[in-house]
Amino acid sequence: MPLFDFSKDERGKVHSIKKRTLRMILEASKSSFPEEFGAFLRAEKGVIKELVLLPGTVSGERHAIFRMHMLPIDFTIVGTVHSHPSGACYPSEADRELFRRYGWVHIIACSPYDRSSWTAFDMMGEPRELKVVD
Ligand code: ZN
Repeated sequence: MPLFDFSKDERGKVHSIKKRTLRMILEASKSSFPEEFGAFLRAEKGVIKELVLLPGTVSGERHAIFRMHMLPIDFTIVGTVHSHPSGACYPSEADRELFRRYGWVHIIACSPYDRSSWTAFDMMGEPRELKVVD
């Protein structure tokens, strides 16, 4: 059972990410290496503009960075981002489980974290389009 019926919500209509926000993701991923970086994505009118960092979410436990009890009930948050230091730019089973349960758009940044080292996914874990805007 999902915590919230995300399919019937305006927030599902995210179409873009600010270039600046994407750059922050890649830089944070790079500086967290070899650990994972994780954050929530905040959007305004369909554009992802901000990262929401949660205390104590990073270092160590692989793919445990988003624990269910930590998922914020914040209606400006549209999904998650995390890094894959391994360089694999696709979701693990644990990632898919998270994507199904929380949010609409999820970004995986993969090593070496250059400008094209990221992919956006929908709640089913399928790659989706996300435009980069100024
Ligand atoms: Zn992952």
